[in-house]
Amino acid sequence: MKLVSKLVVPFILISFLFVFVTSCEQKQESAASERIYVTIGTGGVTGVYYPTGGAISRIVNKKYDTYKIKATVESTGGSVYNINAVLSGDLQFGVAQSDRQFQAINGQKEWEKKGPQKDLRSVFSIHPESITLIASVNSGIKSIKDLKGKRVNLGNPGSGQLGNSQDALQAFGLTEGDLNAEYVKAVEAPGLIQDERLDAFFYTVGHPNGNIKEATSGRIKVRIVPIVGPELDALIQKYPYYAKSVVPAKLYPNAIGGQDVNTFGVKATFVTSIKVSEDIVYAITKEIFENFEEFKKLHPAYQVLTKENMLAGLSAPLHPGAAKYYKEAGLTKYINPSLLP
Ligand code: GLU
Repeated sequence: MKLVSKLVVPFILISFLFVFVTSCEQKQESAASERIYVTIGTGGVTGVYYPTGGAISRIVNKKYDTYKIKATVESTGGSVYNINAVLSGDLQFGVAQSDRQFQAINGQKEWEKKGPQKDLRSVFSIHPESITLIASVNSGIKSIKDLKGKRVNLGNPGSGQLGNSQDALQAFGLTEGDLNAEYVKAVEAPGLIQDERLDAFFYTVGHPNGNIKEATSGRIKVRIVPIVGPELDALIQKYPYYAKSVVPAKLYPNAIGGQDVNTFGVKATFVTSIKVSEDIVYAITKEIFENFEEFKKLHPAYQVLTKENMLAGLSAPLHPGAAKYYKEAGLTKYINPSLLP
């Protein structure tokens, strides 16, 4: 009997230990499997999309205990890349220009061959973006027509700005063949201007941003070139997503000229796919709108944001998760009714 109890006691202890260890492991495993990862596609690290992805993630990740959502940010080639990655399921969310959202849902431009991208869903609008033309003073470029024969970066394939610079050239009677066109990422352009390997570049971006600060702070002096005139008025007439915009001079004190620059613009928007669950989109929408003042402080380009203007400029149907929140919060009145699910 004694011998038996001598064997039984350690056996029981070991069994307890075993059960304890495995249940801990299981707990850890289920905590990890409960975690929902979402990735937000943005743009180059010196633009506004990248910090925008950061701002959204920051607000959402604060509520990890409630939603178990872990949002992360990816630097990408820009709007067109983000829309395609959201549609393929490689990314769950993306920042994209309002004009690119319109073109994707209507099967235009980059989506002409593939047709309307029916799974694309809008969540909200964010900051305004201006089609910004930067030129070295040495190049002598003072208007868009002066781009003829110059080395000009129009934007990388996958970016939002490539389509805008092509539209701008066309509106002013120029073709890509009239210039030495480059197609590199916006993040590289300020360095190329400073190395005198580029005369000018287009960037569709919110202001202020690190990219234009970098371009205006070097040895080579640069100016922001206005895009104005009857040619622009005709362009705005032709496309519903373009509007006039201004780049305030005070944001870039080192730029030559010192005057506010008139140009045209679009809006940054936040998009997803119908395949992303209602709960996730609801949670993200709710946290951004319920922490609106905190969100607005996260980037100077958000200064002009209101809850109302964050619901304008959308063209893809609203994701049901976003629509659910807007209904609860009494914001539906600001939304184009044809976009409601
Ligand atoms: N509008 C640019 C694009 O869609 C990106 C601007 C930014 O990164 O802030 O490619």
